Amino acid sequence: MDKIVLKALAKINLGLDVVGKRDNGYHDVRMIMQNINIYDKICMEKIPEDVIQLQTSLSFLPVNENNLAYKAAQLMKDEFNISEGVSIKIEKRIPVSAGLAGGSADAAAVLIGMKKLFNCDVSNERLKELSVKLGADVPFCVQRGTALAEGIGEELTELAPLMRCNLLVAKPKIIVPTKVIYQNLKLDKNTLHPDIDGIMEAMSNNDLHGIASKLGNVLETVTIPMHPVIQEIKDKMVEYGALNSLMSGSGPTVFGIFEDEKTLERAYGLLKETKLAPYVAKTSTYSSKR
Ligand code: ATP
Repeated sequence: MDKIVLKALAKINLGLDVVGKRDNGYHDVRMIMQNINIYDKICMEKIPEDVIQLQTSLSFLPVNENNLAYKAAQLMKDEFNISEGVSIKIEKRIPVSAGLAGGSADAAAVLIGMKKLFNCDVSNERLKELSVKLGADVPFCVQRGTALAEGIGEELTELAPLMRCNLLVAKPKIIVPTKVIYQNLKLDKNTLHPDIDGIMEAMSNNDLHGIASKLGNVLETVTIPMHPVIQEIKDKMVEYGALNSLMSGSGPTVFGIFEDEKTLERAYGLLKETKLAPYVAKTSTYSSKR
């Protein structure tokens, strides 16, 4: 095989809790990770020259070792002594700095692409272990589907595929650096922690209303006061018929869960009209097994 095309899937968090802080600054989390059908398209091709050539459809993204996709290719070259080169072309569709793990998804896809292109003798378990060097969300992006992520995000428990949910996803025009949000999170007895176990129970019962009513993200307590537009979008989604809405990751992207496609379609139009978010998309939860 000389060429491969991959989908790098975005994720949302149906629940995100922070349960502790480590001395090295990392946080211990409990997150429910769910892939959605928004993805970057990645084309990879072997090239004879021993270099990593990277192109992306967004001119402001780095195409050197500051790009997670480049780092992933380099990691595989080093780990498996690959002396051929690779060309990587990324068509970005996942909004950047959104809380949708776009960079991590690209990195995971490149790890898998390198494994396949260069026939690396490595299990997916080992690939996940290696991938945490690139970022805490990358192991999930390698595994894909639905999972509980603990530790710093790398301890994964696969969960049963979620039923198909209609989703509205909106990203306002603000930049929210993940690091700043975690740094400003204060955990004390007043912290409102989401009911992660309750969400998982509703998921295992295919109880869409139960899932929607329990959605929770502790990072909203930091990001929303900084950027009230996130709350405005959340409220509009519910006003337009979402069962509930939530910020994904450290933000600023908001998603809403809709019971039927007709309501979703209508809400999509209405939310676009508000101009609160330049990026609005209709999508659904991803499952490889459905
Ligand atoms: P997370 O949810 O994991 O915090 P995110 O969705 O908030 O991720 P990303 O889109 O992954 O954020 O990227 C954030 C930063 O990473 C940007 O500043 C961008 O320049 C850099 N970056 C490096 N590689 C990539 C990539 N392949 N795609 C997008 N951003 C990248």
